Amino acid sequence: MRYRVFVCAVLLWILASAAMSQQAAVPEQLTAIKAGRVIDVENGRVLDKQIILLRGKKIEVIGSDPKIPAGAKVLDLSTKTVLPGLIDCHTHLADGAGDVSGDPISQLKKTASQVVLESVPNARLTLESGFTTVRDVGVYRALNDIALRDAINKGYIVGPRMFVAGAYITITGGAGAMTGYAPDIKLPWDFNYGEANSPWEVRQKVRLLAHDGADHIKVLSSGAVLTHGSNPNSQEFTLEELQAAVSEARNFGLRVAAHAHSPDGIKNAIRAGVASVEHATMIDDEGIALAKEHGTYLDMDIYDEECIQAAGKTGNVPADFLEHDRDLGEIQRRNFTKAVRAGVKMTFGTDAGVCPYDVAAHQFAFMVKYGMTPMQAIQAATINAATLIGKPEQFGSLRTGKFADIIAVDGDPIADIRQLEHVTFVMKEGVVYKQ
Ligand SMILES: [Zn+2]
Repeated sequence: MRYRVFVCAVLLWILASAAMSQQAAVPEQLTAIKAGRVIDVENGRVLDKQIILLRGKKIEVIGSDPKIPAGAKVLDLSTKTVLPGLIDCHTHLADGAGDVSGDPISQLKKTASQVVLESVPNARLTLESGFTTVRDVGVYRALNDIALRDAINKGYIVGPRMFVAGAYITITGGAGAMTGYAPDIKLPWDFNYGEANSPWEVRQKVRLLAHDGADHIKVLSSGAVLTHGSNPNSQEFTLEELQAAVSEARNFGLRVAAHAHSPDGIKNAIRAGVASVEHATMIDDEGIALAKEHGTYLDMDIYDEECIQAAGKTGNVPADFLEHDRDLGEIQRRNFTKAVRAGVKMTFGTDAGVCPYDVAAHQFAFMVKYGMTPMQAIQAATINAATLIGKPEQFGSLRTGKFADIIAVDGDPIADIRQLEHVTFVMKEGVVYKQ
């Protein structure tokens, strides 16, 4: 028996070596990018006239005088500013085409397959507007986001590298639940996959989602704006339930993102140890101090209000949603300024899906208007975001060994941040998607 195990091991070793030498026999594409300017987000500076050498999917070297090897494909971006691919830390790419009303109940008019196939253009638009990675933070039909992520990774469709939540973990009738339908209607399983109403139920949902292949956990700590019967001022999960989420997620090596508008919802989430607070709309001084103390990221979607209000003027948005939203936009922007001044760690997250997928970059100008320098806003969407996701060694800056996720704009985004609204070159893992 032992002899047989040994023979099997030797055979496996021979097969593996053969496969490896076969792989090594295919030379990886060498590419040289001539960049006019490069934004060095790690050191907060702009470098002139750089050469970026790529081997296959990765950056091999970047500098002012590396020799371009013979046979390398040359991409001339010498009139452009080159940046690391952008990262949106709060998207909903897999909820389909959406509805003019912004009412999630429109999901009940479609099958899960329809919704996920409708999401294909969402992924493409996001990538083409310069976002090579997204942290997607929840779907109404559980696991659609996992299907979309995997289809992109397998090359079936075009889109950003996705990190996904699998489902919302929410109280029954809470901010991540499907609400607004009659109580005697029975929903398909995938609409309430993440509902939990005690610390142990929260742990059970985290275990399910970890098994399903989620990359992080999304919990709803306070009520929401775009949910019927929900109140953004309220607290939903208790501190104990949030602690259970963080503790169980940690058992699987996962981080937790917490939706929270209300001051107590925000502070409970920070005290429980979440990695990021989403929206953080009504964060108070104590909340800001706690976020600093715990190193919690705030992921504040301060552009959204433009789209909610514009949709409101069409008369299509449900009246209760507009009532929830009243004054919140302005409060959130004021609190964003406070948090930036206090030096809280900030990421770039838009809640894409509330606004159309190709205008996410419009948030940069608002982040600058409300207190960030252009460099800080770019760092929020690159190195800070990669650190929050937990993969700063893979992407988020242009450096040897990282993925060749590279974008370019024609002008200088440090002088005019709105240049990022017009990304003219997009590469993900060494493949050009826009030029
Ligand atoms: Zn959201």
